[in-house]
Amino acid sequence: MAPAGNAGTVRQVNKNQCQHCMPLGAIIAFRGIAGAMALVHGSQGCSTYMRLTCVNHFNEPVDIASSSLNEKQTIHGGEANLKKALDNMRRVYAPSVVGVLTTCLAETMGEDLDRIIRDYQTEQATGCPDIIAVPTPSYSGSHTEGYWAATKAVIAHYARPSGPHRCINVIVPHISPADIREIQRIFTLMGLAITLIPDYSLTLDRPFAGRYQKIPAGGTRPEEIAAMPGAPLTIQFGATCPDNLSPGLWLEQEYGVPLVTLPLPVGIEAADQLLAVLEKISGHPRPESLANERGWLLDAMADAHKHNAEGRAVIYGEPELVYALTRACTENGIAPVVIASGTRASRLASCLEPLLPGLDEQPVVLEETDFAAIEAAALRAGANIAIGHSGGKFFTERHGIPVVRTGFPVHDRVGGQRILSVGYAGTLALLDRITNTLLEQKHGSYRRLRYEETNRTEIMEGI
Ligand code: SF4
Repeated sequence: MAPAGNAGTVRQVNKNQCQHCMPLGAIIAFRGIAGAMALVHGSQGCSTYMRLTCVNHFNEPVDIASSSLNEKQTIHGGEANLKKALDNMRRVYAPSVVGVLTTCLAETMGEDLDRIIRDYQTEQATGCPDIIAVPTPSYSGSHTEGYWAATKAVIAHYARPSGPHRCINVIVPHISPADIREIQRIFTLMGLAITLIPDYSLTLDRPFAGRYQKIPAGGTRPEEIAAMPGAPLTIQFGATCPDNLSPGLWLEQEYGVPLVTLPLPVGIEAADQLLAVLEKISGHPRPESLANERGWLLDAMADAHKHNAEGRAVIYGEPELVYALTRACTENGIAPVVIASGTRASRLASCLEPLLPGLDEQPVVLEETDFAAIEAAALRAGANIAIGHSGGKFFTERHGIPVVRTGFPVHDRVGGQRILSVGYAGTLALLDRITNTLLEQKHGSYRRLRYEETNRTEIMEGI
């Protein structure tokens, strides 16, 4: 391991992974498309693990179809199984869009997915749903790459030359449904119409409706996606998204839609950056409600800085969130001592580079890494708080370092889908979570010491 900066970042072989499977990210992206359902072309085990991970995080039923490949199909090909799975899926769920995602097994077998799907569509008389194939072998990337790849594939599938209109394209990275709703709220408050993709704000966080819907309502509609080439611009929250996976860059290159790339609006600087862009586009200043939210955040930062100055954070997870959290920590006086992501293809290191000279202490930056390396680096750096998903719960269990849960997956707490971190209001909620965690840890040890001392005195007096 080595510090980041000119020395570069460290890449390691995976032990106790910090990321999830590539198709899993694609499943989440397809949940953000109206009427869509995902079919995983591989063994039952792949889809079962992904289903469980999603259910535990979102606390929602997340049905995922599988072509259930076994030893026989592994040798002779999985075409018949895939077609049968498509038939069953259509009969039981009747989706209007199907995302067919490959797994390590299907890709290693060399399945010609495009040809199989073409044949299947030709064989169907009528009513065949739109089928979008996305290659997602996990040895090629993590769930982050799968998410971007699926979002780009969906846009490429539906986008058509379209007359100019005023609806702005907004492309979001993998964030919580609550964060999506907050981004929608900010655009609405600024009086701007948007096509947000992928929009799983309702499909993966459903209001109680009494009756189970096999395909939940919500999601970006295909006709909205078709019109994305006519948008005045695309705002993509994806500073770390690599060019080859960037849906916004694809729209710019194919249809000339100007792309504005912004970091996730977590932290006052990033939220200001977003609002400055929106004020320019809308031609009017932010409303009083957003101005107040900024003021409350500033107030909270002033209140909390003396506590946060003691924070030494290990930040881990998906690159976009890690970058956003790192910025938020630095502007609040928390030293990011370890910055880590399990993702292979991202711009995290280059995004972090301009931040590093301003830091008193150079953090260790780990990319395509695992928890073994993150744990060792965090202990060496004397981290006293961890910020990331539930995979890092061992920090508390083994080392007494509290974990502020954010990102994906959060499987050992409820409410993963409701964790809010974006915008002024979201940053304020995040800051309170971090500051209170540091305070709890500090005061907890005070009380214990005090209790032990009092207890000892009482015992001594009683002798
Ligand atoms: S790593 Fe590959 S084989 Fe394993 S669950 Fe993920 S997709 Fe399936």
